Amino acid sequence: MLIKQRKLPLIIKVDEALLRRLPINHRKRSLIEEDLAIRNACYKGEQNLDYYLDRLPQQNLYILNDLRIKNDKYFFQIDTLLLTPNFGLIIEAKNFSGTLFFDTISKQFIRTYGNKEEGFSDPIIQVQEQQEQLVDWLFAHQIMDFPIEYIIGISNPETIIKAHPGSQSIFQFILHYPHIKNRFLELQAKYSKYDINPQQLRKLCDQLVRAHSPYIPNIQSLYNINQSDISQGVQCPECKHLPMLRVSHTWRCPHCKHQSKSAHLQAMEDYLLLFNPQLTNQACREFLCLKSRNIAYKLLKASGLPFSGSNKGRVYYRGD
Ligand SMILES: [Zn+2]
Repeated sequence: MLIKQRKLPLIIKVDEALLRRLPINHRKRSLIEEDLAIRNACYKGEQNLDYYLDRLPQQNLYILNDLRIKNDKYFFQIDTLLLTPNFGLIIEAKNFSGTLFFDTISKQFIRTYGNKEEGFSDPIIQVQEQQEQLVDWLFAHQIMDFPIEYIIGISNPETIIKAHPGSQSIFQFILHYPHIKNRFLELQAKYSKYDINPQQLRKLCDQLVRAHSPYIPNIQSLYNINQSDISQGVQCPECKHLPMLRVSHTWRCPHCKHQSKSAHLQAMEDYLLLFNPQLTNQACREFLCLKSRNIAYKLLKASGLPFSGSNKGRVYYRGD
C-alpha cells in the first residue's frame, strides 16, 4: 500500500523559477541549468522505481517515498522505505550511467563514462548511514530489534556494475531495478518471524509521515543569489517577457500582445518559492506590479492557495 507518494522536489521547482526570472546573462544560469538537468534525471530515476515496486507482493507492504526526518541534531533522507511486519527495506535510487566500479580495497567508488573517470561518495556508505539513523529513530520510538535492510537501485539498465574479484557480496546490495523483486523475496524468506503486527506497523507509518520535514531550498545558501537579482512581475507565458500589464481584468504582454487571465498564478508560486513561503496582499501587489489592494485581494482569493489569518493578517502559502 502506498502511504507516501513521491512529489516533484521543491528544489526542481526553485531551479525552474530561477531560470524564469534571472536575467539571461546572469552568472549563475549555466550552473542552475546543469543542476536542474541532474535533478530531473534523478527524479525520473526515482519515478521509474514505482513500476518495480508495484510488482512486489503487496500484502502487508507499506511504501513510503521521499522521507526526510530529524534524528537528534541532523536530518536523514530516504528515497524509498518499504515496511513489512517482518523487516524494513531502504531503497536508494541512483541514476548513474556508464560503468560503476566499487573498489572495495581502496574504498573508492569510481564511475567511468566515455573517457572520463570520476570519483563519487560511496553510495553504500551513504545508505548504511541512513540505515543507522533509521534504526536509532526507531529505537527512540520504542521499536527495537526490527531488521532494516538496504538496496542501492540502479535505474539505468545499461549501467555496468563492477567490483573486485572476491567482493561479489556487494551485488546483493547494488541491483538494477528489475532484480529488486527477487531480493525482496529473499529477505521475506530470511525474516519469516512477525516482528510488528499490522496495526503497529500502520501506526509506525503514520509516525514516519508526521516526522517528515521537507527540505526548503534557500537561494542565498544554495547559489549565493540575492533576491535583488530576480525579476519581478507577471511573466508572459508566450514570449517570457516580464512584466505583463494588468488591463481590464486581464494580463497583457506589451511585447507580443498575448493576453492571459491566469498568468499571475505562476508569479505567485515563484514568489513563494524564491522570496518567502508566505505571501501577503502587500507583497503580492509589489511582486505583481499591481496598484490596487482590491485586485490583489481578488486574485489571491481566487488563486486556490491555502491561507491562514483574516483581513489584513491573511497570508497565503504554497499549494503543494
Ligand atoms: Zn509576450
